[in-house]
Amino acid sequence: MEVVKISPRGYCYGVVDAMKLVRQVAENPTAKKPIFVLGLIVHNRHAVEELDRYGVISLDGENRLELIEQVTEGTVVFTAHGVSQAVRERAEAKGLDVVDATCPDVTKTHDLIRHLADGGYTILYIGRRGHPEPEGAMGEAPDHVHLIETAADAEGLDLAGRKLAVVTQTTLSSWDTEETIQSLKEAYPQIEVFNEICLATQLRQEAAVREAARCDVVIVVGDIRSNNSNRLVQVVQEQAGRPAYLVDTVADIEPEWLAGKQTVGVTAGSSTPSPITREVVQFLEGYEPAAQATAQG
Ligand code: SF4
Repeated sequence: MEVVKISPRGYCYGVVDAMKLVRQVAENPTAKKPIFVLGLIVHNRHAVEELDRYGVISLDGENRLELIEQVTEGTVVFTAHGVSQAVRERAEAKGLDVVDATCPDVTKTHDLIRHLADGGYTILYIGRRGHPEPEGAMGEAPDHVHLIETAADAEGLDLAGRKLAVVTQTTLSSWDTEETIQSLKEAYPQIEVFNEICLATQLRQEAAVREAARCDVVIVVGDIRSNNSNRLVQVVQEQAGRPAYLVDTVADIEPEWLAGKQTVGVTAGSSTPSPITREVVQFLEGYEPAAQATAQG
């Protein structure tokens, strides 16, 4: 098949730095052992397995406050998604060594939330429930921040006459949040908008939509739990009108997705290691799809 290698794709700077930091700690003979990562370092099992090989223990779970209670000694690593102040305080109270791999873009959003809360704002944070990033962001000013997924989630809140701000999670898509923000602006004309979708996410999505226009189908390599990988599938489907599928590895590719197709685009979430994506590209370059899709039913 003709393969369009969509660029940029794969690891972003935040993930590269987080992985590098954990490897450095694991290789440092003076680091206090055991070394725990509070949650998955990034939402990708291959990246987590790489850290396993260094003897690093990844605590799986999205609630950082619950996870920190499992750590009684050694070193704890905060992931690229960031943690709340309450988690930092708990780590300190437990006497743990802390390695902070929070992405600078996430820290920037935390700083913004604290600044807005200090300024008396009520903050609507558009994010995905159950994802660690909203938990950390909201924990910066728990009395001032409300997590919403859609504008409807704000309806039951007492917001009349308040100073209002809307802030977005870093790994959403601006196409996705646009409608929510527009509805909020109509309901609360005074609301101030802070688009915190990070540049890495934005550039990967824009490239995927642009390049998908010359593809028959797009394969996104990423973990099912990776928010930004799922958003890549969504923007290709909704903005470029092309079929798109998420695969964890080459083994997930279904022949019927490719039947009758000539050009396939490949991209990868910002938490996907390059070797996994390379395998997918190589497989597709050597792949001869069936002439056309078989009729279903
Ligand atoms: Fe940072 Fe964005 Fe990468 Fe998340 S996706 S680690 S916010 S650069």
